[in-house]
Amino acid sequence: MDNELKALEDFLTEGSRTAYPNPTRHGCPPREFLKNLAKHKIPIEETAACIDHLRSCSECFLDYTRFSETILREKRRMRFIALGSIAALLCLVVVGEYVNYRGSTSPGQSTSLTTHGVTQAGIVTTLHFEDLSVVRGENEQSRLDRIPNIQRGVLNLSIYLPPDSEPGTYTLSILNKLADKESLLTFPGTAEMKGGHTVLQSSANLTSVPPGSYYLAIRHNNGDWRYYRIVLS
Ligand SMILES: [Zn+2]
Repeated sequence: MDNELKALEDFLTEGSRTAYPNPTRHGCPPREFLKNLAKHKIPIEETAACIDHLRSCSECFLDYTRFSETILREKRRMRFIALGSIAALLCLVVVGEYVNYRGSTSPGQSTSLTTHGVTQAGIVTTLHFEDLSVVRGENEQSRLDRIPNIQRGVLNLSIYLPPDSEPGTYTLSILNKLADKESLLTFPGTAEMKGGHTVLQSSANLTSVPPGSYYLAIRHNNGDWRYYRIVLS
């Protein structure tokens, strides 16, 4: 059937649009039939008579051409929509992968000592120093996985202090080296008892401190400093 229709379309040149006027539509098939013919939905045994008619009726030929063009446009439109849907789907997949990637690389995942979450006020950072031995000398090596990794930013710090720590006012300092007199950053904090733990609450803006290894010095009132290794990333 397709070959016959193709032959017809080849045969019906531009001239056929006007060569066989049939204003009274004498012997014309219903327009629905022409539409189905253009869609190639007419069984082969029914096409022969119609094709003969089209060859000698400009009106039907024009209808047939219009239907064919509409169908072609519709096909193109559907293809375009399908491509658009695929593109949108790809975007979703890429965004999803990106969110997964960000999620899997969020800081604090690499160490059990530090947990992070973002709130409006700052990055919630929890440090567990309750069973960490304090650093007493420059050459003392803490096991690498025991050094808390802290994401630089505006932090809401909760530090679980060793069991012998007292509640009250604390001072926190970030030092390059134990011997440094000048700290990179000093900020206050307050410790309270929470469920049997002494928890030091503080907030600090660490954005000005470059990434690297530091010491976090903590002292209660005017007592002795205690030093802990930290990594800022
Ligand atoms: Zn006709």
